[in-house]
This record gives sequence, structure tokens and C-alpha cells, in this order.
Amino acid sequence: MSNQYASLTQLKCPKCGHLKYVPLGKKRSGLNQIASGAAMGAAPVTAAGILNQQAANLSGTMPLQYRCTRCRCKYEFTPLAADADEIIEKGCTINFERVKKFRGSAGVYTVYLNGVPIKNLSNGESFTFQTNTRHNTIFVGFGDGFIYRDYFVFEANPDGVFNIKYDGKFRVA
Ligand SMILES: [Zn+2]
Repeated sequence: MSNQYASLTQLKCPKCGHLKYVPLGKKRSGLNQIASGAAMGAAPVTAAGILNQQAANLSGTMPLQYRCTRCRCKYEFTPLAADADEIIEKGCTINFERVKKFRGSAGVYTVYLNGVPIKNLSNGESFTFQTNTRHNTIFVGFGDGFIYRDYFVFEANPDGVFNIKYDGKFRVA
């Protein structure tokens, strides 16, 4: 399969069609698969040090579990390849910082773009990545599969730049 851009634009409750959800993360029974899933979702780093993680083969992408905020059913969803009209020609750059904190600082966070794990971050670390899809969702969680319920949805502009600080909430500068 050729390289594709991951998308969550088709993500919705399969029972009631509601678009809002709480991300739950990896299903507990699939814990053994997380490490390999993260590795498969890991992106090539360019010479400039900017991740362009979406240009990836999506066939190994793991599903995540969600809970519908209306009917409260749990469901799984695997990111789909973005449609052509969802792809922007020039990438939008995101500077992402995990704000340094003393409390709760021990764990390594996993950052997901459109349902695909792209980077592990220690306390106080930053990284820069690009997205080539118009509609984007960022999750932050742990490598064991747990995902924080606060997530960030944004519309990317070609050549745009977002500066995001994460301290349990997403702060956009
Ligand atoms: Zn529902």
C-alpha cells in the first residue's frame, strides 16, 4: 500500500451517529499490541527534524476506543486514509510543547495525530511536526493505551503554524 494521510473525519458513533466522543485509548485486551502499533505509527524524521508522520502506510494502524457522549456506547475506530479533498498541498506546522511540571511528571506522554501515535514526549519536551490534512485531531495519552479526555481539534492552513502548549489542557498561542 502506498503512503497515505490518516484522517478521523469519518469518526462518529456507529449506533446513533453522534459526532462527539470521549477518547478512551487502546482497548485493554490489546495492550500487547500497543508497542508495535506505536512503532508502526512512528514517523520518519526529515533532515530538518520535522516529523511528517502522516506520509505513512496506514495498514498497520491500530484502532482506538471511544465513548459516545450521547448514547454512551463504546466503539472502536481505525483511522482512515484521508480523501483527496481533505489533503492540503503544503503542510501546516505544529510546534507542540509538553509544559514542564513537577506534579504528574514521571510518565512519558504519547502524542497522537488523527488517531496515529507520532511521538513520545517526556516532561518539558517539545517537537515540531507537519500535517497535510485539513481537519485534525490531537490526543495525548500514555504508551499503555490510556488517552486523556481533553483533545484538540483544528483546521490546518497550508503554510500555517500552530503553537500548542499542553499542560493537561491544550493552550494555543
Ligand atoms: Zn451514540
